[in-house]
Parts: sequence; structure tokens; C-alpha cells
Amino acid sequence: MKQGYLIDMDGVIYRENHLIPGAAEFVGALTGTGTPFLFLTNNSAPTPEDLAVRLKHLGIPGLSARHFYTSALNTADFLCETDPVCTVFVLGEGGLLTALNQRGIANDAIHPGYVVVGEGTPTMERLAKAHECIERGARLLATNPDNWCPVASDRTRPGAGATAAFLEASTGRRAYYLGKPNGYMFHRACRRLEETARMKPGQVVMIGDTMETDIRGAIESGIHGYLVLTGSTALESIGDHVYQPTRVLQSVAELTQEILTGKPSDHLDSPVFAGRESRGSRAGSRHQTDVLALYKPRPRPAMTK
Ligand SMILES: [Mg+2]
Repeated sequence: MKQGYLIDMDGVIYRENHLIPGAAEFVGALTGTGTPFLFLTNNSAPTPEDLAVRLKHLGIPGLSARHFYTSALNTADFLCETDPVCTVFVLGEGGLLTALNQRGIANDAIHPGYVVVGEGTPTMERLAKAHECIERGARLLATNPDNWCPVASDRTRPGAGATAAFLEASTGRRAYYLGKPNGYMFHRACRRLEETARMKPGQVVMIGDTMETDIRGAIESGIHGYLVLTGSTALESIGDHVYQPTRVLQSVAELTQEILTGKPSDHLDSPVFAGRESRGSRAGSRHQTDVLALYKPRPRPAMTK
């Protein structure tokens, strides 16, 4: 049975400006075997073309725009499907502006249907303008819920979630957050894989490094979620979450052989599932993550709301 992959980028393929060891071979195995895949990112600032160039410079050549699905594309898909003749006032960068423009969604600074917030650093003047648009009736939509995003091992930058929270506070209106873990992001990404490779949802695996976005979204969308330990999640903190990954991998390098041989494993190896049989089928399977949380140290603040 053919299996397809949705793959997060930061913390899975690269960290900062360095490829994660084995990532190039992993992507080479995907392309070499014709395995369907899409890189899935909450970053709405770059275009898919920008991301292909970025990976080329990092050492993974041969990718094109069709291999990437960003929260900016997801936002454009969402508005096209739910309100195709709407207008928008955008706080965001090239990837978001291009995605909306390509779907024929017009900019409107007077009476837009939506204020769309993406990644970037808007001026106070633009924030005030967005505030006024919402007061006049525009609905508030964010490309992704990330309050902050990593830029180095010891540095972060404010994310679209923080910008949207500013406008929520100033207007008293709640934003709707697209991007991971919103099921619409996974639904549209799976549809893309289905269209290009006749995939079924049950044949798709999400690979990511963040429990709150990658794994939560996968579980809620009914697809497998593989967690890699090369990014934001430490092995010890997995049990702090109610939702659990289908598998835990040291890195994507562990999947390369499976892809080359075409024999994916269905082994459930989340540490929380380990030893379940020995405790009996009822005890410890429903609320064990809550029990673990009582004596585990608090995880670092969640990246998302
Ligand atoms: Mg990540």
C-alpha cells in the first residue's frame, strides 16, 4: 500500500541554518521512490518557491513549489472555499500576499470582509488600521496560532498568534486561527496528496517535532503522527500531553530504509504506550498522561494558544 507523508520543516529537516543529519537522504529516498509527500509549514511569510530555494541552499536540490503547502496557501484556500468574493486587509509578508493574490482575493483598506494576520512585523500604523477595519465589521483571521517562532537555539521572534492577540485585546473580537493544528490545514494538505497520488487519508503520515501543532493536528485529523526528537520536543515531555504520537523517532533518518524498501511499520512506540499490556488493558490507558503530569516538571510554554 502506497503511503504519503506530510512533513514539517523546522526541527525535522533543518534547525537554524543547518540540515539535520540524514534529512537529505530521507528526502532523496522520497523523491527516488516516487513516494508522495508535502512539506507542511505554519510559516506564512515565504512563498513555496522561496522554500524550494531555501532547501536547495541547505543541500536538498530538486524540489519545486508543488512540494510545499504553507499556512498562507491554506488561508487562501479557506477564503476561496468559504467566501470567494471577499476582500481582505492583510498584515503579512510576500508568501501571504502572493497566495491571496493568486486566488483573486482583493485588498481593501476601507471596508474589508476580513483582517488577515500572518507572520511579519507590522507597524503600529498598520495595526491601528487593522483595528479600525475590525471595528467597522471585518472578521479577524490568522494564518497560524504560533505566538512565537524559533530563530536560533536561544532566540525567538513574535509570531502571527501574538499579532492576532494584540487585535483581539484592542477590539474584543476573537480571531479564527488556521494553520496547524487546525484540521482544515490537514484536510487540504491530504486532499492535495489525494489529487496527485490517489492517496486516502488513512495512508497519510504527519512527521513533526511539535506536539501542540504537528501531532495534535494529525490525531484530530485521523492520520498517523510521527514525532521526531530533533526539534522542540524532548522525550521526557511527551507524556505531559493527552494526545500521543503514533511513533517516536530519533530523526527522519530512521524512516529512510522503510521508504526505500516500501515496508512501513505500524508499530506503536510512543513511550506512554510502552508497557501498556503489562498493566492490563483498562488501567492506565485513558488518563495516564494526566497522572504523569502530576509529578513531571512543567513543559516550556506552549508555542500555540
Ligand atoms: Mg517544527
